[in-house]
Amino acid sequence: IQWENQVRNSGHIHRSSGMSVLVTGAAGFVGSHVSLALKKRGDGVVGLDNFNNYYDPSLKKARNLLLNSHRIFVVEGDLNDAKLLAKLFDAVAFTHVMHLAAQAGVRYAMENPNSYVQSNIAGLVTLLEACKSANPQPAVVWASSSSVYGLNEKIPFSEADWTDQPASLYAATKKAGEEITHTYNHIYGLSITGLRFFTVYGPWGRPDMAYFSFTRNILQGKPITIFRGKNQGDLARDFTYIDDIVKGCLGSLDTSGTSTGSGGKKRGPAPYRIFNLGNTSPVRVTELVNILERHLKLKAKRNIVDMPGNGDVPFTHANISLAEKELGFEPITDLQTGLNKFVRWYLSYYGYNNRNAVE
Ligand code: NAD
Repeated sequence: IQWENQVRNSGHIHRSSGMSVLVTGAAGFVGSHVSLALKKRGDGVVGLDNFNNYYDPSLKKARNLLLNSHRIFVVEGDLNDAKLLAKLFDAVAFTHVMHLAAQAGVRYAMENPNSYVQSNIAGLVTLLEACKSANPQPAVVWASSSSVYGLNEKIPFSEADWTDQPASLYAATKKAGEEITHTYNHIYGLSITGLRFFTVYGPWGRPDMAYFSFTRNILQGKPITIFRGKNQGDLARDFTYIDDIVKGCLGSLDTSGTSTGSGGKKRGPAPYRIFNLGNTSPVRVTELVNILERHLKLKAKRNIVDMPGNGDVPFTHANISLAEKELGFEPITDLQTGLNKFVRWYLSYYGYNNRNAVE
């Protein structure tokens, strides 16, 4: 009973024409930011996260405390727990599901292939089954990835340019997710929006990502390893700041239409959409390190090596004209500004407050 009350209170909508959103992966990087933004504008938010130890679980616990302080309740549980999902949909009439729970990271897939299948395929299907059976059926917005473009050399990447030769198992599970969600769209009438995020960074970020581990190593005086692409020179990424991604997520929820539950037969087809959410200005990883050095006022010990064949791709670059047109998406944060915010957060979170290292 207490659990149900917490879930209902958290899912309660505080504005007219607001939405009630189940955010999976709410204790994660993107999920925590999206949850806070929704709550701030008066929408109901209930989180779901299994708090796994892919990276430091204490960071997930800290994000959870932040969410709790904004009266957002995160249920601890797994996407694959069909009974739990049914209970959640019974407790709250979710209008939307923001599905951000996944096994992320490309390199980890070399040693742990099954965790990608578990969360990104089996877990996705279990969630979609729950959405299909829910009354009302929610509209689903979920995170795919720029990794579906693989080694594509046609830049910038437009939505149709995905590769049929995935560079990692992670990429393969994200592309599979696009096919699976499309199936639920046209067979069961679920409204689906897939968002291909391009290298998201910012405060409360993921410790397994380069900008985060570089910051840690530079501060600790440890060397950092920078991959050199074989033919293309330095690696480059279309780094996209978290606040810009959050706006794209909210814009997607706001425009996602409704699930028709009819598979398009009687009440018309439900929408199926795919969008790139990127910054449209790739930056070399060596330049990323230069910026971090300036913000930290420290020199990095650079260890430059050839890129191992571990799933990384040499560059990414988003064409975002579709998201601009349909979602009003407009990334406004350059890497210099965004990394300054990240570094400030990092120094404060890890107790470097007195170091006076930031401009
Ligand atoms: P994250 O790892 O910080 O967040 C994912 C959260 O999901 C974690 O808190 C984890 O505990 C939870 N989770 C994982 N498997 C689960 C399961 N089976 N059941 C319940 N909870 C589970 O990652 P993130 O960076 O916030 O990424 C969010 C989404 O965006 C993911 O789908 C990711 O693949 C995608 N994405 C992220 C980026 C990026 O640069 N951060 C880029 C492209 C795509």
